[in-house]
Amino acid sequence: MSAPLLRTDDLYKFYGADTARTAVLRQVSLSVEAGRFVTVMGPSGSGKSTFLHMVSGLEPPSGGTVTLAGHDLWSLSERRRTLLRRDLIGFVFQFYNLIPNLDIGQNIRLPLLIGARVQPAAARGRREAVGVSAAAADARLGAGNVATSTATVTEEVHRTEAELAEEHIAQLVELFKLEGKLKAYPHQLSGGEMQRVSIARALVTRPAIVMADEPTGNISSSAGDEVMKLFRRSCDELGQTILLVTHNARDAAYSDEVHFLKDGELHAEQRLAGEAVTPSGIAASLAALGI
Ligand code: ADP
Repeated sequence: MSAPLLRTDDLYKFYGADTARTAVLRQVSLSVEAGRFVTVMGPSGSGKSTFLHMVSGLEPPSGGTVTLAGHDLWSLSERRRTLLRRDLIGFVFQFYNLIPNLDIGQNIRLPLLIGARVQPAAARGRREAVGVSAAAADARLGAGNVATSTATVTEEVHRTEAELAEEHIAQLVELFKLEGKLKAYPHQLSGGEMQRVSIARALVTRPAIVMADEPTGNISSSAGDEVMKLFRRSCDELGQTILLVTHNARDAAYSDEVHFLKDGELHAEQRLAGEAVTPSGIAASLAALGI
């Protein structure tokens, strides 16, 4: 089996000094295979956001390593880590973080406007995404504008990067049912619609991984279901790797595997995968953990 797209080994996070020092995360080891939809679930305060910040390169761990697409994230320079984050990670936040004075079309394109580029379409279906994404990132980080030179295996070589980006955007707009909204502004949309826009924005570069932090926390449960179905379809139809952190069992039930975080520790004996990922299976694991 190939290396996982994302891996943490013995991750620790402490806050405070000396006697006031508390461990928010302890010895967290987790692997996310390319093409999988993985959830880390835990109650409020269990360390989910802290975990996401460390694996996305936003906040350094106190100990342990994070390996993303073959890169030891925290041994890179700040600049390389920032570029890696821009090129390989798409983010979805609870409060959408759309830009109010840009229209929806511009919001979706935002990552491209700030210099990120659409990754080669290596991950259709559940195909392996790691090799191409890592190679493309390496090329870009090391040698400027040769990002796709290592990934010329697709039919895409005949088309320009701009054409490919527009095709991909059109595909996302259709999948996310945003055709009639492109000229609207965020304040004219419902919470569910804004979250659909933010997921489309996260996917616009075909990132190696999308990381989502409580993405349904601010919308109705029916809009939340719609959002979760879109994550599911993004995984199934676009091959998108997804890492979700949530306290919501209903959301977690859309994923391929669920890992439980309690008091800063992952409880491997309660890990669920495949057929076992159901609302009742999740409820049983939560009960067993006393959550
Ligand atoms: P969750 O996302 O699961 O709600 P968090 O990762 O936000 O949990 O927080 C986990 C714990 O870490 C909480 O007890 C929180 O108070 C603490 N914590 C988070 N950030 C800091 C910080 N910058 N300084 C001190 N404690 C923090």
